[in-house]
Amino acid sequence: MLRDKVRTAEYLSVNEIYESLQGEGFLVGTPSIFIRLQGCNLRCPWCDQPEALNFKEEHLELREILKELESFSAKHVVITGGEPFTQRSLPALVKSLLDRGYSVQIETNGTLWIEELEGLAHRLHLTCSPKAVASFFVHPKVLRYSKELKFVVDQELTEEVLLREEFREFLENGRVVLQPEGNKEEFFKKALDIQRRLLSINFEVRIIPQTHKFLGIP
Ligand code: SF4
Repeated sequence: MLRDKVRTAEYLSVNEIYESLQGEGFLVGTPSIFIRLQGCNLRCPWCDQPEALNFKEEHLELREILKELESFSAKHVVITGGEPFTQRSLPALVKSLLDRGYSVQIETNGTLWIEELEGLAHRLHLTCSPKAVASFFVHPKVLRYSKELKFVVDQELTEEVLLREEFREFLENGRVVLQPEGNKEEFFKKALDIQRRLLSINFEVRIIPQTHKFLGIP
């Protein structure tokens, strides 16, 4: 019964909703409400949200989610996961948030796209974080609408990946962020090396750690 409803109505599988600061990427420091959706199509070895990876039967109706947001004060909503694009009601959620005057950011691994988002995508801050487990594949529509590419610096990431043709425009426009995995010292050093080498060929990338972890906030 619930499955039938999910297919025809606006329901989403939610892991948690909470208020904090955006700790990562270009919008770091922005007071934000996080809607963490449940379920991901990938399995990154260092994923720091393992409890949000499995797909579950329980879903919340969109209006319940919107009601819960009223108890928070931030005006910026970050839809994260898991992988938000695994949920067919994502466009309905985005539209409802924009209609209520929120600024909306989606954090995605970039591998999936939902066509109904096309008319709304230019109004979003889309943050794409290409993943090694997906060979850094990014769907062309995600590339078209992303405001930033955020690469986790781990053992796998190389500057050859960053210099791929499909990412070139982001490098040229200074819209690439390097995020050392787990804020580990070895990956800070690696990020600095990559940053220096890219600068020598006139590409400026930013190194932005997971600042919320330094602050001890979620
Ligand atoms: S894509 Fe994100 S949520 Fe999914 S496994 Fe990788 S880090 Fe975790």
